[in-house]
Amino acid sequence: MMISQTMCDKLNGQIKLEFSAAYQYLSMACTFDTMGLKILSQLFNQQYAEEREHALKILGYVQEVGGSVKLEAVPKPCGDYKSVQAIVEAALESEFEVTRAIGGLMDAAIAEKDHATQSFLKWFVDEQVEEVSSMSDLLTLVKLAGDNVLQVESRVRHQMMTQA
Ligand code: MG
Repeated sequence: MMISQTMCDKLNGQIKLEFSAAYQYLSMACTFDTMGLKILSQLFNQQYAEEREHALKILGYVQEVGGSVKLEAVPKPCGDYKSVQAIVEAALESEFEVTRAIGGLMDAAIAEKDHATQSFLKWFVDEQVEEVSSMSDLLTLVKLAGDNVLQVESRVRHQMMTQA
């Protein structure tokens, strides 16, 4: 194995965290759908797919360096949100949590002088800047719109169309 067992365990922990984030986004997407907010539902479904990709990317790396993948139980997502803002706040908090975890992994890779894992994690460090930034922007938009949630929907739809 090209990485330490400690690093391998930590990466397995991150796989679980990314799948947990994915599962939470999927749950939020379903809540938006129930609320009739199809665009936000679509956006959060995209986030779900992205988080799953992150998990699979780490899984692939663990295999590539000769480690064993150990999948753990993913916690039940919180399904009890009172407002759109509460959902977006929870999503932002989750992105901060993932960012801290990636930072912790990078610290460990640096401490171990594990250059391969540092190089691998760099993409995730950059990705988290983007994730936190876009979720912060969405929260700002939701707060600005207040009760007019449909305005959020039309803004997000416009953004999704121009990004595609
Ligand atoms: Mg992620």
